[in-house]
Amino acid sequence: MRTATFAGLLVFVAVSAAPAASQEGLAASALANSEFSWVRRAAPGFRVYFQAGSYAAQHQDSLLARLPMALQHARTLIRSPAPADPIDLFFVETREAMTRLVGARATGFTHQSARAVFLMTNPTWRAFERHEIMHVVAWHAWGPPAARNDWLQEGLAQAADGRCGEFSNEAVLRGLTRRHGWVTLQDMLVNFRQQPDLRAYLQAAALTRFLLDAYGPTAVETLWRNGGTADSIIGDRSFAAIEQQWREVIASGDQPAPQRLAAIDEVGCGVVAPTR
Ligand SMILES: [Zn+2]
Repeated sequence: MRTATFAGLLVFVAVSAAPAASQEGLAASALANSEFSWVRRAAPGFRVYFQAGSYAAQHQDSLLARLPMALQHARTLIRSPAPADPIDLFFVETREAMTRLVGARATGFTHQSARAVFLMTNPTWRAFERHEIMHVVAWHAWGPPAARNDWLQEGLAQAADGRCGEFSNEAVLRGLTRRHGWVTLQDMLVNFRQQPDLRAYLQAAALTRFLLDAYGPTAVETLWRNGGTADSIIGDRSFAAIEQQWREVIASGDQPAPQRLAAIDEVGCGVVAPTR
């Protein structure tokens, strides 16, 4: 009897010391949504849900394998620990499904505080798992960002993705700035959401990547927590001076061929390259 009681107590202690976090926020509401049925899988650091019958469900093994790599990549980029609890990650087929689940016609969406990620993928659209997973990793490492820090949240996430179409963020940005010009630093810092989103995201991503490489994650964390202005001092120089130097550094180099650049400019970074 004593042994049985002791064994029972051990089990109880072990379970209560590491309870599985329940789904929260938009993850909980997606699972409770009777319009959707989900194929449930798991990967290290993730609980994953594929919309039943979708393109993603047909490719679940390969999509699943990308997730731990994306998490590790995000953590390496900002040298952060893993989130304490698993990320709940949903794959759906269409923008309509995204709208029904998260209320936005997005191709990727993250509810940071709930560790809930939603990704659209189909034969013509690549999933942005590195982008959305970085939203969760940064938020859990550094906490909620300063107000009006949209440029840095999106810059960091898109820097983690690293790609636009089959090109680097920087190559597509180069092509777009040669076509349309730059978003000013001031507009990026204070009116980010009012800018043409592809250019603003890529410009923020390439600038954030430059800051990470040149000044390290701690300098970027300071911007995340405190916000930044053109006069903010990073290292020993003003943000405005750094941004000017960065433009000169990335202005020269390759860009996508005109037809492909036009397709990306029209549809976005997730557009899958045509196969011959
Ligand atoms: Zn984002």
